[in-house]
Amino acid sequence: MHIEGTVRKMKTELKDEVQYYLPIGTSEIHMNEMIGSTIHIKHTGAIHCIKCGKLTKTSFAQGYCYSCFVSAPETEECVIRPELCRAHEGIARDMKFAASHCLIDHYVYLALSPGIKVGVTRSTQIPTRWIDQGADSAVRLARTPNRYTAGLLEVALKNIFPDKTNWKQMLLGRSGFNYDLIQEKWKAEEILPFDMRQYFIDNDEIINIKYPVQSYPDVIKSINMDKTKEIRGKLNGIKGQYLIFEDGQVMNIRKYGGYYLEIKG
Ligand SMILES: [Zn+2]
Repeated sequence: MHIEGTVRKMKTELKDEVQYYLPIGTSEIHMNEMIGSTIHIKHTGAIHCIKCGKLTKTSFAQGYCYSCFVSAPETEECVIRPELCRAHEGIARDMKFAASHCLIDHYVYLALSPGIKVGVTRSTQIPTRWIDQGADSAVRLARTPNRYTAGLLEVALKNIFPDKTNWKQMLLGRSGFNYDLIQEKWKAEEILPFDMRQYFIDNDEIINIKYPVQSYPDVIKSINMDKTKEIRGKLNGIKGQYLIFEDGQVMNIRKYGGYYLEIKG
């Protein structure tokens, strides 16, 4: 196989094991089929903005040129910090975008990745968001009518739970974090301010996610494609948006949205 083109973050499908599809140029590689074999990935140096397609020297916010980074609704501050969303007051870079991204149902969730963490996601991004974070399991805590309210809950819950994924532990396949997500959920509810408890939902379904990883490395070395330009090795698995190679090198595909890559395998 030899395919080249501009890549986007991998599309995922929740099956017995997560299925990964890497969009590249006009085609797509079913990455699960590459696991166990040696692949070669090379960055030619070109980066095309994933919004406008223009060539850009530097990628901002995982794939945008500078002018899109400061103007596109996809990179507005509330993407990272939902509590700063103003769409419910009629203020956003693009209200049409906000109508389908901010002013819709959101979930606040707890996930194990592998430590416990709290997060916020649009209802349409379940389970995509959890898979992208490499979560092993997750439970919905609360449903809110917009992004802002979900952000307020998240801020309150950050007093109890971290909101970051420890990606190294995630990629080392660490477990042994024996949290009971349902118990943690209802414990959290008890300490929230009363006006926030109304958003909690009874749905205690635990979603378990299994990744296609043959074996986990002992040490992780993150690859910087801006510096090394290429990587060759046996692909041992995929978790989150990371390719995990036999020698412990890992490549965060999401970081390279818009990069023109050559892939051989
Ligand atoms: Zn652009």
